[in-house]
Amino acid sequence: MAQILSGTAVAAKVLERIADETKRGGIAPTLAVIIVGGDPASRVYVDNKKKDCARVGFHSLEYALPADVGQTKLLALIETLNSDPRVHGILCQMPLPRDIDERAVTRAISPAKDVDAFHPENVGRILLGDPVFLPCTPAGVMELLAEAGISLEGRHVVVVGRSSIVGKPMAMLALGANATVTICHSKTADLAGITRQADVLVAAVGRANFITADMVREGAVVIDVGINRLENGKLRGDVDYEAVAEKASWITPVPGGVGPMTRAMLLQNTLAAAAASI
Ligand code: NAP
Repeated sequence: MAQILSGTAVAAKVLERIADETKRGGIAPTLAVIIVGGDPASRVYVDNKKKDCARVGFHSLEYALPADVGQTKLLALIETLNSDPRVHGILCQMPLPRDIDERAVTRAISPAKDVDAFHPENVGRILLGDPVFLPCTPAGVMELLAEAGISLEGRHVVVVGRSSIVGKPMAMLALGANATVTICHSKTADLAGITRQADVLVAAVGRANFITADMVREGAVVIDVGINRLENGKLRGDVDYEAVAEKASWITPVPGGVGPMTRAMLLQNTLAAAAASI
């Protein structure tokens, strides 16, 4: 039976450390959060981020814009926040209304305040192995592994999913930690044959129970990034948890696995942005 990699427990430690550093640092890092429109899921994410900020002694500023705000006004707000020295981190909650180009918004946020690490300059620096900020979800996975003493060096990491916010940067961070990395996607042939070769399997697909026990090698470490809402309202990961836990050596639960780590890493990046601004 697998040991549980608890994101809830590790994130609590990270938050404690951040709160301590904030107290000692003398300045309260400030995160500006922009939300456009009334998407209920985005509202929950933004409220959670504000709560997290309060918990560690950060300031948060919310900019709630109507769905019809338009790209020009949104970019103007970002420009104002970019040049405001009181603001250390800026994030714009995605998804945005259709008439707004998300890539233009991502590019507009100053790389020095881009605490999500989505700006092309920050993405490029991750590829070059010289990051300023680490993308929150993959960074959270790395922290979780490190905390459990699981080294990736020389191990085969298989990442299922190649999105720009999870799969690709996850692969880069694992490569940076000297893993041998395979990235799989919807066109991968013999997916199960590849996932069975993984010492560490990272699932970032967005389909409940997609990774079944026959796709996992005995003793593998299984990281479930997926968050899927079932019809009964419950959250479920991409991994068939109960069956896979019988075979894996370590496994992350959903909820309580990668999710809390992602939130903690956003605070870590905001603290780093504030420290760099002094
Ligand atoms: P995404 O942009 O939809 O990407 C999904 C990836 O899965 C794509 O690369 C896709 O391949 C691949 N895929 C889809 N069907 C597949 C199949 N049958 N076989 C192999 N690969 C397949 O999603 P995302 O933003 O990366 O998010 C993935 C999941 O993680 C979602 O459930 C999301 O909610 C969750 N998430 C969680 C956190 C957290 O903090 N825990 C953070 C972010 C995201 P193609 O590229 O070929 O289409």
